[in-house]
Amino acid sequence: MSGTRTTCPYCGVGCGIRIGSDGAIAGDPDHPANRGRLCVKGAALGETLGDDNRLLHPMMGGARASWDAALDAAAAGLAETIAAHGPDAVAFYVSGQFLTEDYYIANKLMKGFIGSANIDTNSRLCMASTVAGHVRAFGADVVPGIYEDWDEADLAVLAGSNAAWCHPVLFQRLLAARATRGTRIVVIDPRRTASCEAADLHLPLAIGSDTALFAGLLVHLADRGALDSAWIAAHSTGFEAALAVARRDAGSIAAVAEATRLAPDLILRFYTEFAGTERSLTIFSQGINQSASGTDKVNAILNCHLATGRIGRPGMGPFSVTGQPNAMGGREVGGLATQLAAHMGFDQPEAIDRVRRFWQAPAVATRPGLKAVDLFEAVHDGRIKAIWIAATNPVVSMPRAGRVQDALARCPLVIVSDCWPTSTSGLAHILLPAAGWGEKDGTVTNSERRISRQRAFRAPPGEARPDWWMFAEMARRLGWGDRFAYAKPADIFREHAALSGFENEGARAFDIGGLAGLSDEDYDGLAPVRWPVAEARANARLFAGGGFFTADGRARFVATPPRPLAEGTGRARPLRLNTGRIRDQWHTMTRSGSVPRLMAHQEEPFLELSPSDAGKFDVGDGDLMRIETAHGTAILRARASSSVKPGELFAPMHWSADFSSAGPIGRLVGGAADPISGQPELKASAARLAPLPTLWRGLLLGPARPLGAQSFYWARLPVAGGQACTLRGWDPLPAADDLRALAAALLGAPGVALQDICDTERGSYRFARIEQGRLVGCLLIACQSAWPVPERESLVPLLGAEFDAAARGRFALMQRIAAAPTASRKICVCLSVSQAAIEGVIADGRAADPTEIGAVTGAGTSCGSCLPELEALLREARVQAALRPNPLAPLRRAR
Ligand code: SF4
Repeated sequence: MSGTRTTCPYCGVGCGIRIGSDGAIAGDPDHPANRGRLCVKGAALGETLGDDNRLLHPMMGGARASWDAALDAAAAGLAETIAAHGPDAVAFYVSGQFLTEDYYIANKLMKGFIGSANIDTNSRLCMASTVAGHVRAFGADVVPGIYEDWDEADLAVLAGSNAAWCHPVLFQRLLAARATRGTRIVVIDPRRTASCEAADLHLPLAIGSDTALFAGLLVHLADRGALDSAWIAAHSTGFEAALAVARRDAGSIAAVAEATRLAPDLILRFYTEFAGTERSLTIFSQGINQSASGTDKVNAILNCHLATGRIGRPGMGPFSVTGQPNAMGGREVGGLATQLAAHMGFDQPEAIDRVRRFWQAPAVATRPGLKAVDLFEAVHDGRIKAIWIAATNPVVSMPRAGRVQDALARCPLVIVSDCWPTSTSGLAHILLPAAGWGEKDGTVTNSERRISRQRAFRAPPGEARPDWWMFAEMARRLGWGDRFAYAKPADIFREHAALSGFENEGARAFDIGGLAGLSDEDYDGLAPVRWPVAEARANARLFAGGGFFTADGRARFVATPPRPLAEGTGRARPLRLNTGRIRDQWHTMTRSGSVPRLMAHQEEPFLELSPSDAGKFDVGDGDLMRIETAHGTAILRARASSSVKPGELFAPMHWSADFSSAGPIGRLVGGAADPISGQPELKASAARLAPLPTLWRGLLLGPARPLGAQSFYWARLPVAGGQACTLRGWDPLPAADDLRALAAALLGAPGVALQDICDTERGSYRFARIEQGRLVGCLLIACQSAWPVPERESLVPLLGAEFDAAARGRFALMQRIAAAPTASRKICVCLSVSQAAIEGVIADGRAADPTEIGAVTGAGTSCGSCLPELEALLREARVQAALRPNPLAPLRRAR
């Protein structure tokens, strides 16, 4: 075929993509991860490729600089810091968005040549607990299973994983398995997520109680004779000690019910299903990992699979799904501060010496570096004096985000390389423009250990360059050019592959030594390949017959006593804030937030609370609420939802201060971390709420830019020709003159006379910025008595259009528009089908299942990401129908 084959840059499913010669994007039918499917984010990738808003040139101190000047200055700063304060005074903070080749070079430079292990990655926030749990149990960070297990399981247990939204293409494989082989699905999650729509059983356990649930399962398996004693005896150690601890802490259904606050019959149903199903697959993700006891939670899951010997065989095993596209590649090169390289650690002197010899490194690090939370704390207290942040936005994504911002503001040297301006790049002394997806070459590894190529199909804009090139140039400037003399990514990949096989002899799981001899042409054409790929060891699934990477080759059971959450609730903060992802956004929205249709599913940040809590606070949907934790406050719009339990809250993690006054949510979250993995607890902050009145509402249309700190709530989204911002005020509306000044500032026209229509009596205000006869932007504000502000949809077409008499008339008329229906959010963004349209066809009886909804409206017939929400709307309609009084009932009673 013509065009380019590459992989999706979003989640750890690692879907293959074909770019047609006309630039069209489609799923690659030959890629084994997705077989042609894409979710809505992948399908919308083409809409993220514009050069608007990209970083185009190196910058120093806010002024454009040449690459030489910027890199020379950065190198001089790092060298001076190392000379004056030692190598541990510098740090790199990198990303699961890196390609493996980027990761390899950054890691080699820091750990082999600078001589510190202070390189950590945002994967610390994503799956560090899984890495630690795997190493404790298996002796190596290995996912034993493969994606075919999702097709071949009889029982799929989703623990802390909303795969329907976060790994949609894999979730559709589960749905297909349910349809064809009757796979049963159990969801273990404090919230009723979209994944629950397909579940046979949902266990809405108390936040943080997963360890108790799985420890209780281990006891149940032992007591019901469901253990594989022969396998335990042949391939493991530590079973009795782990069982004894589980029995002590979770020895009965009643004890588990108390710890998890689940109904005993729900627990028993789950345990019975698991005990009786040989092909059981436990899929886990951030709900397990992002916890101060995440490593124990992982091991509690692994214990159950080891105890039943359900590992490494078709349709069974523990299966960690990674959040980022190349979190796994980062784990392979040693991108975490606690790893050395190529699955070698700091705990073995011979491994350190091996890496030193392979790299011919002058100053190889001999001990782990600082993990992300500690690393930024060291920046804050001045131990780290120079940091290079690449392809990530910690000012938004880290817990205690405000403290991270303070830390960077006081750091003597901050180097940032990225594709777009971010909250973090605004704090950079030296800013380096990075080539992005589609502009650079390399490899990524997905959640099933499959390495795929990412290939360039467009030129980087401006002077943007790949990250590997920047780090190699830095190494050259620091005096190690001969050890970083790479001309292209293939050179780096061959070295990475060779290191994995170097003196391996089967001792290390990660072995792609068989790829070390690839020619440039072979690398260009590399088909997706799963590791290990060394000739004698190529095996899709691992550990069915033992062969663990511990000293004695046996797996380790790990005792997992339950630990309390890091933050306690009480009178001051009685609620629990859970944070997570939504269906159509990615991380801090730097890429996905620019796509109008990806914003159509959830246009604003929100705070979900249970209907009973909403009743307690007397708030309705869209009302303002102040949320406060020990770490920060935010004003969000409430959403009553039965998906969260009373006492629990949920807020999406994506919105930054660039997209809403409510962002970043990370500033509400504490930094308490798992003592083993260093992964912070992002899903259990103690919080309190207070409702705020909405005294006025507004709509701003204009050029795309953040509104900054304001004394009102705002959230922006892209629209044709600019941006639209929703405004809500809890303080009384300012006087007309103050509003005029505010309008001029928000419309980017200080000192420019705006056209206005102000009805001070009714509290309704219109300001329009007209230039050369065209509407550049407008601000419409109305206090409560003058509801409503016109619908966004009716105004957007005016933006950038000629502001003639007709437009002027429409603009003026809007002041008197009667209550217009609020636009319904889009459920199917591929085919632009709104919730109202779907509810309509259900209500009038034209659709009774997702297939019929698809036939009538088109919803769910493209990427399929919205299918769980169609199920949810059908379920809700059934509930409402059951509650509706039966008109025939009185007649029957009369008879
Ligand atoms: Fe991309 Fe993940 Fe969606 Fe696949 S499932 S298209 S990898 S975001």
